[in-house]
Amino acid sequence: MPVTTRLPALLMASALLAPSLHVNAADAPPPSHHRPSGYQNNYIEFQPRGLLDLLKWKRDASRDDLPKPPRTPIPTVAPDAAFIQANARAGVMAMQPAITWIGHATMLAQFGGLNILTDPVFSERVSPLSFVGPKRAVAAGLTLGALPHIDVVLISHNHYDHLDDASVRALARQPGGPPLFIVPLGIKAWLAERDITNVVELDWWQSHTVAASVGAVEVVLTPVQHWSGRGLNDRLKTLWGGYAVFAPDLHFFFTGDTAYSKDFKDIRERFASRQTPEKGGGFDIALIALGAYEPRWFMSAQHVNPAEAVQIHLDVNAKRSVGIHWGTFELTDESLDQPPIDLAEARRAKAVADADFFVMAVGETRKLPKRPR
Ligand code: ZN
Ligand code: ZN
Repeated sequence: MPVTTRLPALLMASALLAPSLHVNAADAPPPSHHRPSGYQNNYIEFQPRGLLDLLKWKRDASRDDLPKPPRTPIPTVAPDAAFIQANARAGVMAMQPAITWIGHATMLAQFGGLNILTDPVFSERVSPLSFVGPKRAVAAGLTLGALPHIDVVLISHNHYDHLDDASVRALARQPGGPPLFIVPLGIKAWLAERDITNVVELDWWQSHTVAASVGAVEVVLTPVQHWSGRGLNDRLKTLWGGYAVFAPDLHFFFTGDTAYSKDFKDIRERFASRQTPEKGGGFDIALIALGAYEPRWFMSAQHVNPAEAVQIHLDVNAKRSVGIHWGTFELTDESLDQPPIDLAEARRAKAVADADFFVMAVGETRKLPKRPR
């Protein structure tokens, strides 16, 4: 067929094709975790507990005088500022993969040539009001001013102990320009209200590639079982999640807040082909939320206990894990120092070596082996 006669036929075919593709896309059912009013978990139909349950929890806690004060002080060390700053500037080839615990779910992670902060909270309280609500028991391991230039901020969800207004505003104003904020669906608009626009918003399993100086670092939002909301009228309206971050020198996983669910076996399966033994194996480090688990009747659908945290460590195929989300803010009935005690028992029960699932002192830096390549 000569070109002149073939062209109209092609155009007609493409004209037929285009609308049908469009219609197909529009007809595709939305992902099952998308709901008209917001989002849901994969494996339970979650409803935040109501006021009556909250009152029962608080009445019981008050009767039993919970949480008890910690028996031992939360471990803290002075940060190794010289190492952190030098490492921050080392560039991707010379950078030593390392994590520094700032407290609660806030971790400075240095790998892939990037300085990454998880759920930055530097404020004294995690509450809608600055003068009430859970107060910091231990000073932040690094002050905002002591941070190196942050490239990427990962936000897991919008609860106050993970998304802190003052901290994200301060980071957006850091010298040298704002970091890239990577957030679950719905949080971009909240940041835009604060004139923070350097934001990438992800759905579960969507990824964003950060172009580091050499090589690329891929950030994937993963499902976990939790919920969201900062007030009474926005429950489940923005998404929550964990993050898998793949850099040539480190595979990193961060649970955010989560209950135990099959999502973690799904995560292992999803990434299995890039984590075969020949390719360096599973996650080099997993940051797993350890605290905020008592009483179980109230917390088990939204927060793991240490036994379940160890199961997540096994499920996601982490070479080593660190327990975070404890020791900083008194949120629930267990003592601030209880999570590592329960973790030790859980490790023994599942025959996990002490070094494979550890806790850190606030301010401490752990250097991590580079991923073989
Ligand atoms: Zn939460
Ligand atoms: Zn939390």
